[in-house]
Amino acid sequence: MAQSSILGYPRIGADREWKKALEAFWAGKLEEAEFVEKLRDIRLAHLRKQKDKGIDLIPVNDFSYYDHVLDTATMFGIVPQRFKYEGGAVSLSVYYGIARGTKEAAASEMTKWFNTNYHYIVPELDGAQPALTENKPLQAYREAKEKLGIEGKPVLLGPLTFLKLSKGYAKAETDSWLERLLPLYVQVLRELALEGVRWVQIDEPIAVTKIDAEDVRRLQTIYGAFAAAVPELNILLQTYFESVESYADIVSLPVKGIGLDFVHGAAGNLAAIREFGFPQDKVLGAGVIDGRGIWKAALGEKLEVLEQLGKYVSGDRLIVQSSCSLLHVPVTTENETKLAAELKGALAFADEKLTEIALLTKAANEGREAIAAELAASQRAVEALRQSAERNRADVQQAVAGISGAEPARASAFEQRRIAQQNKWQLPLFPTTTIGSFPQSAEVRKARQLWRKGEWNEERYAAFIREQIDLWIKLQEEIGIDVLVHGEFERTDMVEFFGEKLAGFAFTQNGWVQSYGSRCVKPPVIYGDVAFEQAMTVEETKYAQSQTDRPVKGMLTGPITIMNWSFVRDDIPREQIAYQLAYALRQEVEALEQAGIGMIQVDEPAVREGLPLKEQDQAEYLNWAVKAFRMTTCTVQNETQIHTHMCYCEFHDMIDSIEEMDADVISIETSRSHGELIHSFEENTYKLGIGLGVYDIHSPRVPNVEEMSGMIDRALRVLDPQLFWINPDCGLKTRGQEETVASLRNMVAATQIAREKH
Ligand code: GLN
Ligand code: ZN
Repeated sequence: MAQSSILGYPRIGADREWKKALEAFWAGKLEEAEFVEKLRDIRLAHLRKQKDKGIDLIPVNDFSYYDHVLDTATMFGIVPQRFKYEGGAVSLSVYYGIARGTKEAAASEMTKWFNTNYHYIVPELDGAQPALTENKPLQAYREAKEKLGIEGKPVLLGPLTFLKLSKGYAKAETDSWLERLLPLYVQVLRELALEGVRWVQIDEPIAVTKIDAEDVRRLQTIYGAFAAAVPELNILLQTYFESVESYADIVSLPVKGIGLDFVHGAAGNLAAIREFGFPQDKVLGAGVIDGRGIWKAALGEKLEVLEQLGKYVSGDRLIVQSSCSLLHVPVTTENETKLAAELKGALAFADEKLTEIALLTKAANEGREAIAAELAASQRAVEALRQSAERNRADVQQAVAGISGAEPARASAFEQRRIAQQNKWQLPLFPTTTIGSFPQSAEVRKARQLWRKGEWNEERYAAFIREQIDLWIKLQEEIGIDVLVHGEFERTDMVEFFGEKLAGFAFTQNGWVQSYGSRCVKPPVIYGDVAFEQAMTVEETKYAQSQTDRPVKGMLTGPITIMNWSFVRDDIPREQIAYQLAYALRQEVEALEQAGIGMIQVDEPAVREGLPLKEQDQAEYLNWAVKAFRMTTCTVQNETQIHTHMCYCEFHDMIDSIEEMDADVISIETSRSHGELIHSFEENTYKLGIGLGVYDIHSPRVPNVEEMSGMIDRALRVLDPQLFWINPDCGLKTRGQEETVASLRNMVAATQIAREKH
C-alpha cells in the first residue's frame, strides 16, 4: 500500500499563536514553564490535525523553538564561545541568545535557506566541541506516541547539508568535521532504533545543488556508516527544491528510501528515473504536492505523475508526499473570508494540501474512481480560475507579447545619455542622494492606521503625508543633499503598496509564512494578469518636486522584486509574469516623466533571490530579469535619469547582469561586505553611475565623517570619480529622525572633503 506523508508542517499556527508565544516569552510576559507548555500544545495540535486529515507518516521534530538548523547545532552542543556555554542541554536563554543576540554577545548570522524566503541561523563551528546534548528527535517521537498514539517519522537535518551550511572551518577540514559529527548522528539514530522507530527522514537538500565527486563520496561514507550502525532503521534520504544531482549515485546509497521533488525538479528527476530506473529494494518518496506554492493541485495531473512513477516503483514502495516541508506555505485557507470565490476555491495552503495528499494516496491504492468526485472538483476549481476574466486580459497579453518580442533598450547609449543628463542637471562631482524612505515615525504609522480604519478621510491623510514631505524636503535642502526624495511616507511596504494598486493582485487576511524566527511575512498573491490601472506614485512625487528647485527622484519597486516577494500563479512562466509587471510599471515610469519628474529610481533589491539553484539555469533567469528591468525603464528621454538600488547580496557573479540593466545610476549596499564588494568592482570595470553605500543604516549609531571618508576613498581607488555617487546603504524608514539627520550631515561633510581632494 502506498502511504501518505509530508516533510514538515508550518510552526506558526493558523492564528500565528507560535509567533505570539515566542514574543510574549521574550518580552517576559510568559514564564518559561508556561511557554514550554504552550508550545507543546501547539505542536500536538499540529500533529493531531495531520492525523485527522489522514496522513500516514507524520513528521516529528520538524517543529522548532526558532529554527531547525539552530536546533541541529544546539543538539550537538555547537554554540559560539561568546555565549559562555558550558555543556549539557542548551538552555532557552543561550538558544535565543544565538538567534537574537544578547547584551554581551552578537547573534549568529542568518541567511536564506536555499532559494526560499526562510532564513536559518548559520552554525559556527570554530572552537566548538561537538557532543550530543539531548536527543530531540527521540523526545519528539516519544511525545507523539505517548500523547496521541502517533507513530511519528523523526526528521533530521543530514550531516552533509548541515556542514555545508555551517561556517567557521576551512574547506580542507570538511572530512575531519564529518568524522566528529558522525558518531553523534549514529548515537541519535541508535537510540531511535532502540525505541522502535520505523522511518527516519534525513534531509539532504544540498544534493540538489552542485555537488562534486568528493561530496558523493562523503554521502557514501555517511550513509554507509548509518547502514552499518543501525541496519534495522528505515532511513529515507530526502531531497527537495530541485532535481537531485548525481542521481545514479544518490539512489544507490545504502538507505531504505529516497525522497525526490516532482514539482520543482520534476523534469530532471523524471528524466533520471527514466534513464536509470529506480532501485527495486527502495521506497520512493514522491513529492508531487507543491510545498512552496499556494495553489490547489490539478489532482488528475498529479495522478498521471504517480502513474508514470508506477512503472518503476510498485505501489507498496511509494510514499505520496509534499515536494518539501509545508513550512513555506500559510496554514489554512479556512479563515479567508474576503477573497473572490474563484480565487479562494483555487487555493490550497498547508491543511488543504494534507487533504490533497491523502486523496492522491487513496487513488494510488484504490484507483482513480475512488476519488472521482474530488478529482472532478479539483479540476473544476483549477479551471474556474484559469478561465476567469482576471487571467485572460487580452489587452495585457497582446501588449506584453508586442513589447517582449524586441530587445528593450534606451534610445541612446549611456555615454550620450550621460552628457544629456549632465547638461540638464549640472550636478556637482559626487552627487549625494538617499535610497528613498525616511523614518516611518510612530506618528506616520498612527496616521495610516486612522486612515485605514476610516477615522481619517482621504483628504486629511493626504494633507498629513504632504506635511511629512514638506518637513523632509526642507531637511534635505538644509543638510545639502543634491538629489532629493519624497520619503515614501504613504507606503508600508514596497511590494504591498504597488500590489494594492495594480490589477491581478490579491491580499489574504491570514496568509502568513515564517521568514525567520518569529518574523512572518504575508506575501501578496499575483493571481491574474497584472495591469496598470492608475498612477501610483505621481501625486506625492509631483508635490515634493513642487516644493523644491532641486531634483526629486521618483521611487518605485521593480518587476523582479515584486515578483520574488509575492506568491505567483503557476499557470504561466515566471518570465511572463515579470514582463507583465514590467509593462505595468513602465506606464508608471512614463507617468512620472510626463509629470515632470526627471530622475526615477526602480528598486530591485530581490533580483538575487530568484536565482535558480542550478547553475545551468541561472543565465536564463538573469537574462529575462534584466530584460524586465529594461522593459520598465527604456522608454524615457535621454535626459531622464534612471536609478536603481540593490540591497546587500552576493554581487561578484552578477556584476555583468547588473551592468546590462543599463541604469544610469545604481546604489548598492556595501558596508556589510567589508570591502569585498569594492574588490568585485575592481575586477569588473563598471561603466555606469554608481553609489556604494557609505554607511550602514541598520544601526542607530551615527557614523562620523572620518569613517565615511574612509569608505569614499576606498571606493574611489577602484571606481571612476566622474561616475561616483554618495548615499547611505539603504532606505532609512526604520531609523529615527535625529540620527538620520546627523548621519546625513556627516555624509555631506565627507562628500565636501572628497570634492576638495579631487
Ligand atoms: N526605496 C526603498 C526604501 O528606501 C528601498 C528599500 C530596499 O532596498 N529594500 O525604503
Ligand atoms: Zn536596500
